[in-house]
Amino acid sequence: MTTKEPIGRFRFMNEQRVNLDGFATPAPELGLVAFNGLNDPKPSITIKENRIVEMDGRSESDFDSIDEFIARHGIDLSVAIEAMAIDDLDFARRLVDPNHSRADIVRLSSGMTPAKLAAVLSKLSAAELVIAMTKMRARRTPSNQAHVTNRSDDPLLLAADAATAAAFGFRELETTVPVAADAPSNAVAVSIGAAVGSPGVLVQCSVEESAELALGMRGLVSYAETVSLYGTEQIFIDGDDTPWSKAFLTSAYASRGIKMRVTSGGGSEALMGGAEKCSMFYLEARCVALARAIGAQGVQNGGIDSAAVAGAVPGGVRSLMAENVMVMLRNLEACTGNDALMSESDVRRTSRTHPIFIGGSDFINSGFGSIQRYDNMFGPSQWNSEDIDDFLAMQRDWGVDGGLRTADEVEVERLRRRATEAVTAVYSWLGLGDFSQEWADQAIDAAGSKDISSGDLMLPLTAARTIMETNVTMLDVIAALAENGFDLEAQRCLDMLKARVAGDYLQTSAIFDEEMNVLSLVTDPNEYSGPGTGYQPTSSRQNEIDTIRQQRSVSDLLAEQQSFDHKNIFVKGSAETSYDPRDVVIGVSPATGKDIWVTLSGLSLADAISEVLAGLEEEGCTGRIVRINDSLDLGMIGLTAARLSGSGVSVGLQAKGTALIHRRDLAPLANLELYSVAPTITRDLYRMMGINAGRHAKGATPEPVRNPYSDEAIEARYHTKVVSLVAIERNCVNSHGPELMELR
Ligand code: CA
Repeated sequence: MTTKEPIGRFRFMNEQRVNLDGFATPAPELGLVAFNGLNDPKPSITIKENRIVEMDGRSESDFDSIDEFIARHGIDLSVAIEAMAIDDLDFARRLVDPNHSRADIVRLSSGMTPAKLAAVLSKLSAAELVIAMTKMRARRTPSNQAHVTNRSDDPLLLAADAATAAAFGFRELETTVPVAADAPSNAVAVSIGAAVGSPGVLVQCSVEESAELALGMRGLVSYAETVSLYGTEQIFIDGDDTPWSKAFLTSAYASRGIKMRVTSGGGSEALMGGAEKCSMFYLEARCVALARAIGAQGVQNGGIDSAAVAGAVPGGVRSLMAENVMVMLRNLEACTGNDALMSESDVRRTSRTHPIFIGGSDFINSGFGSIQRYDNMFGPSQWNSEDIDDFLAMQRDWGVDGGLRTADEVEVERLRRRATEAVTAVYSWLGLGDFSQEWADQAIDAAGSKDISSGDLMLPLTAARTIMETNVTMLDVIAALAENGFDLEAQRCLDMLKARVAGDYLQTSAIFDEEMNVLSLVTDPNEYSGPGTGYQPTSSRQNEIDTIRQQRSVSDLLAEQQSFDHKNIFVKGSAETSYDPRDVVIGVSPATGKDIWVTLSGLSLADAISEVLAGLEEEGCTGRIVRINDSLDLGMIGLTAARLSGSGVSVGLQAKGTALIHRRDLAPLANLELYSVAPTITRDLYRMMGINAGRHAKGATPEPVRNPYSDEAIEARYHTKVVSLVAIERNCVNSHGPELMELR
């Protein structure tokens, strides 16, 4: 059998990056379906003698361990009957109706079963999910979480990158390891780097559960979120766990003042072959109910590691966002996925994140890779350091607070230096290892671990072992910082330990601001109730969102033009009309020889003019440079020049580089040839323009020069510059007559 090659249009489409993604035909028997699984139950509840005896179509004698845990600890019996009686669509409408308060929706949701909330949330469209998220998230102020990792567990780079992430505004930093035994060293390095960057940044080291808890007990990390929940009993058992063991672990963290949220996500059960013919969304509804029941502060969900599985089925991306909203209905902190990379396509991954970004969540990303993709030891994130400028531009475009801010380059370099110095001092003081100055210098400058050649890969392992064997705690790290002149960082680390004793950040959705105030459901509640309410950035925060490092003003551009050091176009005298049939006037615009010296293509204006002159000379013509002072309109410049020209033909040239060939008998807006895309006009094209103008002067009809074609976003790149250059030109317009110019 021969397979026919696809036609060109499909061959071409097949090559696009989105076609690297996997798309699954829905398979309900495998759980490969976002909503409406074969075994998804109808919502129901029966309460007898203050005890749930039936829930979601299953009587208590048939409860599995998940049902049992939810029924006994996860449903508020005082509102269950009232809540379960509300029509699904009616309740769904309340989620987007400003007249129904968040508090009342939370109260009723607490009495709803997993199947009930799944039925309600499956009724919301994408746009309605955005409104529901805006209204239902617990904390008023949105925030963001970063991954800080690297391939070599390099402590200096980890600390420098942690400080950098804090400078960009991340309030939680999560690290992990490629080499499990390195974990204690990573926790110390990231904690120090975070303290260099900002007060109150929470730090996590995601490793095997007992090791992670041990790090937490020593004060080396301040939050945890990797206790995983699953929606079917089989998958729990496969992992050697039960809801009770997860609840115990959760309590263990919380009892030591460590902020604690759990992880789940639609598609994980299908991925592990244990979906029991249920939809991803229904199983996730069980996980979220369980999270509430075991007393976690919040949930990191929205697919997470299985986001690509959900993304492979129809409606899957919508179900990921609905999972996040469900966490909010359960009145828990929502760390809304946008974590593992779910698509090879920049369009799809942006599309997946964008509604959450504009709706606003407790943590927009549950793991923005603040480091490069290759250094992300969780695997590449949905967003990575490759995308930080994009994310900041998106915040600015929509005026949205996505939790990040522009960091100043000089400040980031200072922080990175300080972080490497602090780690060097602490590691040396505690006998964990010694770093060379060359290594430190490379870490300060590095954009990623590939930029560091002088690191010692064994050092993290030795340091980690020493931390465990000599029982290093955060108090030892604080003492080492204080003894070596890092008082500020010592104080910040100590403040974090004190906060653990106070326990205020164990409230739902708690983060610290940069004054160490706790922002949480209790202290910073979201009270959105329609336009003009809810979170509004302060004016200084809005200024951070609006001001990105790439923005340029007219005066910036003027200064850039003024700094150009070949100002070689001068006025020679006034320009007269010529009667020489070989005379061709090059009409230049008012800012020529005054404020603009370089065209948009980066060519000096004098060089562009020289090329036109040389082209004219090749054709036996004589060029004269004449500045037209009374108009910045290129048509008028060209026509005025043509009327002075002995041949009647002119070249018109705006200082930004746009050019045309004109003739005195044509209307102002007509022309013989137009070179409109200034950024793409090269030296050769200006030469060709001179040649063609010469041929027109001699009465010939040359083949017109075609504007070079580019598929780049020329307008995006240059239009703001054009606006500024035109403003500069306009400022130079005056009533002086045409002036003869010369190049020197
Ligand atoms: Ca995370």
